[in-house]
Formats: sequence, C-alpha cells, structure tokens
Amino acid sequence: MSCKKVLASEVAVPFRQELKQIIQEKGIRPKLVGFLANDDPAAVMYANWTGKTCAETGVEFELRKVDKNSLEECVVEANEDKDIHGIMVYYPVFGGNQDQYIQNVVSPAKDVESLGHKYRYNMYHNIRYLDPEMSQKCIIPCTPLAVVKILEYVGVYNKILNYGDRLHGKTITVINRSEVVGRPLAALLANDGAKVFSVDVTGIQEFHRGQGLKLKKHEVYECDKTLEEVVGMSDVVITGVPVKSYKLPTSLLKDGVVALNFSTFKNFEDDVIDKASIYIPSVGKVTVAMLERNLIRLYDYQTRGTSEQI
Ligand code: NAD
Repeated sequence: MSCKKVLASEVAVPFRQELKQIIQEKGIRPKLVGFLANDDPAAVMYANWTGKTCAETGVEFELRKVDKNSLEECVVEANEDKDIHGIMVYYPVFGGNQDQYIQNVVSPAKDVESLGHKYRYNMYHNIRYLDPEMSQKCIIPCTPLAVVKILEYVGVYNKILNYGDRLHGKTITVINRSEVVGRPLAALLANDGAKVFSVDVTGIQEFHRGQGLKLKKHEVYECDKTLEEVVGMSDVVITGVPVKSYKLPTSLLKDGVVALNFSTFKNFEDDVIDKASIYIPSVGKVTVAMLERNLIRLYDYQTRGTSEQI
C-alpha cells in the first residue's frame, strides 16, 4: 500500500493566500505584539519565524523584550492600545499558576492564542460563538486548530455529515494531554463526534460525546485499555511526545491509519509509511497560519466587522 506524505507547508498555502487577499482587499494592517520575558532561544527563533511569516502575509509583528516583573503592566498597556490587535506571550515566564494569571490578563479581544479562560471554557463546553446572533466565532488555540485543519484537508472530516458531527464514527488516539495542545485537541475532536483516546504518562482517558447529544459537550472517562489496544483500533493516531527517544512502534498501527506528529521530535518510526495511508510529519507552518487567521478574526471583531469569509 502506498502512503501519501502531507507537508504542513502544503496545507498552509490556501490559508495564507486567503489571509493575504483579505488584508490586501480591505487595505488593513493588523498588528500582533509578542512579549518575550524569558531568555529561551527557542522562543526567539519562533518569534523571528513568526515575524517573517507575518511580513509575507501583510501582518505587522512586533517583538517586545520586557523584564518579567514588568510583563503584566506591559500586557495591560497593550490591551488598551487601539493600534494593537493581537497579543501573545512566550511562555514559560514564571511557570505554573503565575503564567496562568498572565494568560488571563490578556484581553479576550486580543487573545490571539486563545489561552485565557473565556475561550478555553467555551471550547471545552462546545460553545462555538461569542454572541447569540452567531456572528462571531470563538477563538481556538493555534496548534489544536492546526491539527483540525490538517485533518479536514486530508479528508478525515466527512463533509457529507452535518457541521459539528463530521468525525462521527472515527476513533482517534492523541498521545499528549498537555493543556496547550493535547487536552484541547482531544476535546475539539470529541466535540465533532470522534471517540478519542487521550494518552499521557499518567494513563489513558476516553473523550466522547454522549449518544444523540448533537453539539453538546464531550464527556471524559478513565479508560482501562492499553496503549497497544487503543492505537490498534484508531483510524487516526496523533503524537506529541516531547522526547527524542520516543518512537511509537509501527507494528501497533492499524493498516491505512492517518498518522500525524506535532512534536518537535519524530515520534513515528521511519517505516510508518509502510502502514499509514497518510503521514503528516509536522504541523508548525499551519500553526502560524492559524495564529494569523485568529488575528484577522480579532481585528474584524475589534473593528465591528465579521469574518464570515474566513
Ligand atoms: P508538554 O511537556 O506540556 O506535554 C507533553 C505531553 O506528552 C504530556 O501530556 C505527557 O504526559 C505526554 N507524554 C510524555 N511522554 C509520554 C510517553 N512516553 N507516553 C505518553 N505520553 C507521554 O509538551 P507540549 O507543550 O504539549 O509540547 C509537546 C510537543 O509538541 C513538543 O515537542 C513541542 O515542541 C511540540 N509543539 C509543537 C507545536 C507546533 O505548532 N508545531 C506547538 C506546541 C507544541
């Protein structure tokens, strides 16, 4: 069986073209500010890359290096600055609860990464719009959203089914349950109808919507199945283990599986292509496209338009 390798750069193209077109046609210049309050070289690299990508699309990106003890005040100032449309902070800064506090200092109007309580609550509760008129969609965190868009692109989402139900009948394993990627991703997939096995170092949980509960939030259950069992029954396996030595044995995968890795490290073995029908080795370029997409949405909301077209 032949496997199709799908690169994030390929999936990102139509999104980036659409964003560029909207920016050009509307003659707008949305501005994103990134706050760097740690000395993480990976954050600097990511910021440089974000700046370059934004410049190509027509988004203004400014990196502000600040002392961690003045970060909160800098974020408050940016919240009030009408020329800034999106704010992101490179974490960790303090680590733990204080970082969570800073995430909630960012105004929901500018929370381009969707890390504050409002959007997170809405996502976990499957509340898709900010307003009763359903004119403003909620902001979804960039990497989980990037994975969803890639799964749509490769046809895992069944377009014949109703919106909100397009993963009905799919079984998906996500190996990572971090608050930044794995848990929100499991929730998004389950809210769209999938049965999701969420794996982390502490064990396995099952996320799924109740029978007949269309568009209602998913529920979570502790699961006593093994990794071997859940991977073997999954149509899609998603890995995000931040460890170089971690390799998911190809022998566990179902024939024809869709295999997607979002870890910086390759979590699948090289011979994954012998079992998978589709293999997506990384997602980074789609993540940045989603960051820009979220920014354009927030720009529209701030300027009282809607972004039905994106
Ligand atoms: P994290 O450390 O917060 O979480 C890691 C998760 O993996 C945890 O749930 C942990 O329990 C689980 N895990 C670790 N070892 C495991 C094992 N042996 N078996 C099962 N589960 C295991 O990390 P994170 O912030 O979620 O990032 C994970 C990876 O994804 C990193 O490599 C990071 O660079 C990458 N990442 C990529 C993007 C992108 O857009 N490309 C964005 C965010 C994170």
